[in-house]
Amino acid sequence: MKALIDKLEDTHSLTRKEWVELISAYETPGLIEYAAERARKLTDAVFGKQIYFRGIIEYTNFCRNDCYYCGLRLSGKDTTRYRLTPQQILACAEDGYNMGYRTIVLQGGETAYYEAKGAERMVGIVRAIRERYPDVAVTLSMGEMNREAYQALFDAGADRYLLRHETATKEHYEKLHPPTMSFENRMACLRTLKEIGYQAGAGLMVGSPYQTAEHLAADMMFIADFKPHMVGIGPFQPHHDTPLASFPPGSNELTFFIVSLCRIMNPKLLIPATTALDCGHGDGRQRAILAGANVIMPNLSPEGIKQNYLLYDNKPGITQSAAENLAKLRGLVEEIGYTMVVGRGDHPDTVKEQARAA
Ligand code: SAH
Repeated sequence: MKALIDKLEDTHSLTRKEWVELISAYETPGLIEYAAERARKLTDAVFGKQIYFRGIIEYTNFCRNDCYYCGLRLSGKDTTRYRLTPQQILACAEDGYNMGYRTIVLQGGETAYYEAKGAERMVGIVRAIRERYPDVAVTLSMGEMNREAYQALFDAGADRYLLRHETATKEHYEKLHPPTMSFENRMACLRTLKEIGYQAGAGLMVGSPYQTAEHLAADMMFIADFKPHMVGIGPFQPHHDTPLASFPPGSNELTFFIVSLCRIMNPKLLIPATTALDCGHGDGRQRAILAGANVIMPNLSPEGIKQNYLLYDNKPGITQSAAENLAKLRGLVEEIGYTMVVGRGDHPDTVKEQARAA
């Protein structure tokens, strides 16, 4: 199996059959460690011992969608709903800027409040952040919208967009989402984001219900083909108030392995060490960095709402202030010999494009 990892490093691709074989063998003693070691070497060669940090503002938990796995789903009854006003979001951004953040991530459920009239309200927020802090990158993670809205937000100054594909297999997608959502639209949104010029982030939950090695192989092949700038990979974590509540959480070990394989396939990818890795474990994000992740996203949401933005149960950090959360994660990063760097943290190829344009 190590030979397949070496082949991936040399050629940056594997056949579907090879992917299935490699992923199915993840419990082979020493294999995860071997992949992590290769991945870490590549990460350190591209990014040094530096970790980019992004402040995530969870601006609303209202959502029109009803994804079967997500604690913010429309049918969820246990969630106290909130939305931050543009003023509250800008106050968070200011705090973040003062703490050293140079990327602000705005993530939320999907709701007309910010999206109406071509995402007018969010356009105003993005523009205000860009005007006040020209050296800050803005990342959006607000789900599926039409091309006009994506374009308006890009024109207002948004740089990146996170929209996990969740699974690259249509039949699997349909087991995780209601009939009102479609695999085709998810994929079309991702293509549109890239066409517009965003640094685009795809991604998936490892160990989501009904997932097989074939599905993960399809995910790897999709990532190889679509070439996102970022890939968010976290284990599925059940949320008690969803139809998938009784499924077990995804494996952290398999998540580290998939992180490593993504890194080996594409050394320049931006790969976050995701929060879902630390539900009930202490060292998930550290180990993700050691397996090839190079981004961490501390929580920058204001006090008083964090306990209501629960995509899954046992989310860590919800009782910490933004400053405490940043300090905690900085400590974890430094403990393993890395440093958090102040800067936008763009994808390496995008930096080159911007330099050429300047
Ligand atoms: N509405 C936006 C963003 C919010 S959810 C969107 O759809 O893009 C952000 C990500 O959290 C999702 O893409 C999903 O992969 C992840 N997520 C949601 N519920 C989860 C769960 N129960 N376990 C693990 N990850 C989950």
